[in-house]
Amino acid sequence: MKQRILRLVNVVFFVMAFSIYAHSRPGGHLADSSALQPASADPVSTAHAKTPDTRGSIFVFHNNEFWLNLHHFLYVLGRAENKERDTSREAVAGAPGDQQRGFEKLSAKEQAIWREAVASYAAGPSKKDLVFDDPLPALTNALARAGDSKSLTGSKVDPAIVATLQQAAPIYRKAWWKRHRSANRSWQKVIQALVDRHGAAVLAFITNAYKLQWPAAGFPVHVSAYSNWAGAYSTSGDLLVISSQSPGLQGTYGLETVFHEGMHQWDGQVFEALREQAVKVNKVFPRGLDHALIFFTAGEAVRRVVPGHVPYAEKFGVWQRGLGPMKVALEEIWKPYLDGQGTRDVALAELIKRTGIDPTPK
Ligand SMILES: [Zn+2]
Repeated sequence: MKQRILRLVNVVFFVMAFSIYAHSRPGGHLADSSALQPASADPVSTAHAKTPDTRGSIFVFHNNEFWLNLHHFLYVLGRAENKERDTSREAVAGAPGDQQRGFEKLSAKEQAIWREAVASYAAGPSKKDLVFDDPLPALTNALARAGDSKSLTGSKVDPAIVATLQQAAPIYRKAWWKRHRSANRSWQKVIQALVDRHGAAVLAFITNAYKLQWPAAGFPVHVSAYSNWAGAYSTSGDLLVISSQSPGLQGTYGLETVFHEGMHQWDGQVFEALREQAVKVNKVFPRGLDHALIFFTAGEAVRRVVPGHVPYAEKFGVWQRGLGPMKVALEEIWKPYLDGQGTRDVALAELIKRTGIDPTPK
């Protein structure tokens, strides 16, 4: 739970940092939660019948997850139907046009069934946030485990959601899936080649900087035509979903982002390390410092192996959206550490001294 809370705090900041709109937390939008029940850990037995590609074992890519792709497409279309503010974001803005093109392959009856599925999402899951709001993380994890299986029968996904997805499934296969899967495969091919070429060096850089371990079996990456407005997110269950079609996540930005999102697996440990140093210097470390460290370190790691790569946070203006003072401190304190000076904890303590706030007197 603690992990989850930390990650949520982190992602709230991620949202703040990335977004030019004020992210409204839909605390009051949980009216439909009773219609959804959390999926348990039971996998659908036929999931992942094919052995995933584990070359290099830094990441394990899944590009053929039919149910996960369908779910995210319906999710972003439902948000578009609800006219949520984030539907204009680059990673999801193309979804209604994509839907329209698919309609050309469908009969009027099939279009009607599809619209019904979108309406059902609009009234339910699309009102929630994929990262923050239960039961979406558990639901999405269950759908990832269902892979490309023919049916969701036997999974622990809420029957109402199962019914919607299964009704929409043959239509999705007919009109969109081939193209979406092909986008997933193309994206993966490019990113896998970058991981093959640079992954070991990037991984050595970030694990050496953080003094933390990467999972030996690799970190799972769920590739989907759509994810959320940001194009990529990670949430409980180490669930990383990344959009293969988002213009901002191609090439070396895809490489930086899979490492960035993978580094969120350490949120709990990093939070503890920061807290320990904060106590020593009698400060409270500022919210977002852990996230600024990820942006800076992942960006540096990729820049050092791909000359000319402008780190994501610089390229997309993340530092200009509230993290500016931290960027200066990171340049002056964290970068020398990344270059080999001193120890991690001394660098963290210095960062907290510089950016932290005085504790409230009791
Ligand atoms: Zn992040």
